[in-house]
Amino acid sequence: MKSRRTFIKKAGLVTVWGAISPALAQSGLATTTQIPVMGAEEIGFSQQPLPYLYSALEPVIDALTMEIHYTKHAAGYTKNLVDACAGEKVDTSKIKLTELLGRISTYSIKMRNNAGGHYNHEFFWQSLTPVRSGQTNKPSGSFMEAIVNQFGSFENFQTQFSDAARNRFGSGWAWLVKTTDGKLKIGSTPNQDNPLMDLSELKGTPLLGLDVWEHAYYLKYQNKRPDYIAACWSLFNWEVLERRYKNA
Ligand code: MN
Repeated sequence: MKSRRTFIKKAGLVTVWGAISPALAQSGLATTTQIPVMGAEEIGFSQQPLPYLYSALEPVIDALTMEIHYTKHAAGYTKNLVDACAGEKVDTSKIKLTELLGRISTYSIKMRNNAGGHYNHEFFWQSLTPVRSGQTNKPSGSFMEAIVNQFGSFENFQTQFSDAARNRFGSGWAWLVKTTDGKLKIGSTPNQDNPLMDLSELKGTPLLGLDVWEHAYYLKYQNKRPDYIAACWSLFNWEVLERRYKNA
């Protein structure tokens, strides 16, 4: 109970659009309509409950894809990360996950794949929110201004991000990051690499990451990755992304 209180205190709160996941209901947090959403820097070494039901992202992402993705793929990365930390003498109570990622080149490939895989998925679940019918899903305020300043228009930003996601060869992730000089940048990473890794070509604080591994979309979209990418624009949680932008 103490750790949960600490968790809630540290985390920001955001309104849940849709129902609460069974895991969250069991945790006792379902008594409120607000759930904690951690900032990018606060993702730890354990898998957190999904902040919505497996079916909550339908029709864009189907419930079976979500269930397999969360309980098999993502949970597997978390388990293997814990194994790798034990094997490589990483004390997870003393190091932040972001610090580990920042010097990932000094660890094994197993650590790289699973630290990235765990972080990326925890980050991804928080980046999505159920479709709000009748509303256009766009950022607003200073974050929207920053996007327009950097990319010319929101539509240009969408095109560039979608292109990065579509053109990532094989498995990987598309990203929007804030660089150390405060600019917004779009790029992609292979496999489970991410922009926090010292060996990544794309560097910065992640604001949005889109999983373009086939396991993220194959049941519903089969080989049509561009259709999955186009549909995902209705799911991005701009409230969370804006907070990441302001905190970066
Ligand atoms: Mn995935």
